[in-house]
Amino acid sequence: MRAFVGEFKEQAEKVTHDLRHRELIQSALRKYEATRDKTKAAFQDWERARQGAAETKWTAINHLDKHLVEFTDKLAARGTKVHWASTGQQARDIILGIVRDKKARSIIKSKAMTAEEIHLNEALEEAGFEVVESDLGEFIVQLRKEAPYHIVFPAMHLTRGDISELFVRELGSAPTQNPEDLTMIARRVLRQKYVTADVGITGANFAVAETGMISITENEGNARLTAALPKVMISLLGIEKILPRLEDLALFLPMLATAGTGQPLTCYNSLYGGPRQPGESDGPEEFHVVLLDNRRTELLADAEQRDALHCIRCGACLNVCPIFRNVGGHTYGTTYSGPIGSVITPHLRGLQDWKHLSYASSLCGACTETCPVKINLHHHLLQNRRNAAREKPAFGEKLAFKLFTLVVNRPGLYTFAKKAARLLQKFHPLVKGTRLDPAYEWTKTRELPPIAPQTFKEYWNQKGVSKIEG
Ligand code: SF4
Repeated sequence: MRAFVGEFKEQAEKVTHDLRHRELIQSALRKYEATRDKTKAAFQDWERARQGAAETKWTAINHLDKHLVEFTDKLAARGTKVHWASTGQQARDIILGIVRDKKARSIIKSKAMTAEEIHLNEALEEAGFEVVESDLGEFIVQLRKEAPYHIVFPAMHLTRGDISELFVRELGSAPTQNPEDLTMIARRVLRQKYVTADVGITGANFAVAETGMISITENEGNARLTAALPKVMISLLGIEKILPRLEDLALFLPMLATAGTGQPLTCYNSLYGGPRQPGESDGPEEFHVVLLDNRRTELLADAEQRDALHCIRCGACLNVCPIFRNVGGHTYGTTYSGPIGSVITPHLRGLQDWKHLSYASSLCGACTETCPVKINLHHHLLQNRRNAAREKPAFGEKLAFKLFTLVVNRPGLYTFAKKAARLLQKFHPLVKGTRLDPAYEWTKTRELPPIAPQTFKEYWNQKGVSKIEG
């Protein structure tokens, strides 16, 4: 058994039995659903909005080469330094090169899942830089030395009590369960960090090709401070973040907010098109944009699953997924969890090592139904399963299908097997749930459905209307 699948199974079992955790997540998501539904109802036609968003992303991704050139040319014309990174390692090296060149000591960061994907914090800290996350949820999980739990709500698995204890331990603050007081404690620490940081690192929600601008949407104003106060700003983004036109934001900003948090619009929506221009009074002196591929072009080459690049990282598919709601975000062991993580992680990190995530689904289709850009998520999970089996068939499955083919192609053998199965079924309770049980993997948590006392053919022939042969 490969390590990743073993860890996933072990962790999933542990978390699923943690009733406190389940109650916490379920109650948070129930509140999210109620707010999201109210906000969705304010759209004139949510389904048409989804269709429009899916078509816009289709155009963006299918003409990515053209849009990326337009985007970077416009950025460069205003003095932005554009960097291309084929791999996570290259992106880390580029960013390390910039911060070393600037002789920076401390770095302030706003939320960027792409940075999590390439393990940027670890690389910067190993190189001796102080990195502080400025998004409140990210700040909390950074203090806990944990990865974000969810792509939109990084600390949703924690109660106010957990956060209070953490702040007492790590920041020496007085205990409190008042959310405003907790926010003020973090704010006092963070304000100081903004002032002293030499470099600010952000992600991006969208990259507007037409104007050469990155769009950042947030609720705390921390990304604005990260971009405005340090002299050097670095934005790290995946190449799939492209939107062709500025006016596309009129749809995508409310859609991201609605699907992501249930808000009509997030509190702060900013556009960055370059460093401080002559005559401007604020903004960074230097602006670097790092465009990350990290196997996204391989996904682009896959016509069947290319639409996974339409993802706007709203997190809605995680929120409705019955598996995510039970096993929680950390169990996946990946940057991107839930249905979208299960679809793209095998592409980003290797199909054979991560194929098990495509089985962590009930295939109920709730993810596909909720996705604002209409990614066919549950079908992609099936395609990942098929691709993994085609590339490297499991010995047990191969043998089982060979036996099955052998039996069903021989009517006499099939009739004998049916009779034998019905007979053996009577003795099944004696071994059920033990290692002697041939269906152990199934029966340790579920009931084995009984074999029907009569097949359809037997039933039909008994009715005497006509006879089914064979
Ligand atoms: S796949 Fe769809 S629902 Fe899931 S995070 Fe991406 S855009 Fe949101």
